[in-house]
Amino acid sequence: MDKPPFSDGVPSIGGSTLNYIDGHWEPASNGKWCERFDPADQTVLVARAPDSSREDARRAVAAASRVQDVWRGWTAPERGRRLFDWLRWIDARRDKLAELLTREEGKILPESAGEVKRSMDILEYTAGMGRRLDGKIYPAEEHDVLCYSIPQPLGVVGLISPWNFPVAIPVWKLAPALIAGNTAVLKPSPLTPLTATMLVRGLEEVGIPPGVVNLVHGGVEPGQELISNEAVNGVSFTGSTKVGKAIARAGSERLLKLQLELGGKNPQIVLDDADLDQAVNGVVTGGLGSTGQRCTATSRALVTEKVYDDFLSRLVARAGSMKVGPGVESGVEIGPLVDDRALSSVSRWVRIAAEEGAGICTGGSRVLSPELAKGIFHQPTVLEAKQGMQITQEEIFGPVVAVIRVKDFDEAISVANSVRYGLTSTVFTRDISKVFRFAEMAQAGIIHVNRPGVGGYSHVPFGGIKESGYGGREVGDEVMNFYTETKMVYVNYK
Ligand code: NAD
Repeated sequence: MDKPPFSDGVPSIGGSTLNYIDGHWEPASNGKWCERFDPADQTVLVARAPDSSREDARRAVAAASRVQDVWRGWTAPERGRRLFDWLRWIDARRDKLAELLTREEGKILPESAGEVKRSMDILEYTAGMGRRLDGKIYPAEEHDVLCYSIPQPLGVVGLISPWNFPVAIPVWKLAPALIAGNTAVLKPSPLTPLTATMLVRGLEEVGIPPGVVNLVHGGVEPGQELISNEAVNGVSFTGSTKVGKAIARAGSERLLKLQLELGGKNPQIVLDDADLDQAVNGVVTGGLGSTGQRCTATSRALVTEKVYDDFLSRLVARAGSMKVGPGVESGVEIGPLVDDRALSSVSRWVRIAAEEGAGICTGGSRVLSPELAKGIFHQPTVLEAKQGMQITQEEIFGPVVAVIRVKDFDEAISVANSVRYGLTSTVFTRDISKVFRFAEMAQAGIIHVNRPGVGGYSHVPFGGIKESGYGGREVGDEVMNFYTETKMVYVNYK
């Protein structure tokens, strides 16, 4: 097979995909494969993908190193034009890409379409940086000296992505990496090989030179090679905090430049004066949307006493009536969990919560109705919890929200900040002074007021603090702090 089966650039569902190294499509050198089944119907094979070894990643890094000078030799506007071509290529196939995403990852079609749209917006903004990648001129301390900075590419970058945003995250890593003049090795999640394959096929078709972008499928092994390989100058990783910490430890051995986007345990505060319809919608969208499988998922609702009962009963009614089913079916609001491991983990957390005394207000189990039994569906679940229980502290990554009663604004802030994560934090209130106090005091990289705590604009920095993020923001102009090094130049022209 000289390349995977594509139809107008779209990989076939149920087919085998390949690695893309130095401009060639090829299987893993060890001959191993991973299989991915449709999470909405596990009897359906979605893809076979190479289960690559360190050797495949090593060869991909070598290819990226060989063409480094070629790619950085292109002017930034030339690189930008190629990324605009990629944008048009994706646009022409956006519905197909969204469908692939839903079949492979499970999220409902409108969410997949939204993810593809966001990826395109980010790509548009980043491609335009080809004409905005500027340095700075500094005042000189001496006469007849010009002091200025040049942003330079790192060289070869490793990009390791998770399964839950398998289009947006590779795009928001590849686009800034390339526009800055870096060459790249993308290692997507083994659960979402087809979307990554399609994105890379697009780059090939718009004429990105061989070796500039390489794709290595597989799990831990090729990922570890990207961390330890001396020819990799930086790694941008999105995934769990546990793996992120392991990468930070391994990377510190050689002072590897790292950008880590990690997990979350995001709170939404609801104060006495909140618009309760908006606040309930905030939790439903933020906590149960995308089946709760978002780093930004709202997994804690902290509600003040006066509105607590009203809020809880409205939330329970809304969550309990949500339609669960395959993401391709219209009207479905909650798709499947990504795999059996995710299901066992969510079930375990619900069990622990119940053992610790949390009340299960709605949901709490796998959906086993005959028409959904072949998929990995879990009921939208609302728990009444007490601060300090494990489910108020740990990321669950499923459609489970813990509602916690708090006395007032001050207690809400202290509970909100009581976790080791700091990705997003949200408040619903009409009190302007509390809005700004919250924005000041909430320990999170992204704050939302009177809107769901998920999503973000495509030209705005994205990322978290505490154990949610490390090494600078993604998206927007700030992303260049990672993908470039600042070189200072002093010129005496006397
Ligand atoms: P994961 O940490 O299991 O895997 C992420 C990626 O790292 C995958 O490609 C995986 O194959 C690879 N990997 C695993 N072990 C590795 C190792 N030792 N060395 C190198 N690479 C390794 O995460 P996941 O289950 O794919 O994704 C879900 C997690 O991602 C959640 O915790 C979620 O909060 C987080 N996430 C964070 C953000 C953010 O921007 N902060 C966005 C999306 C997802």
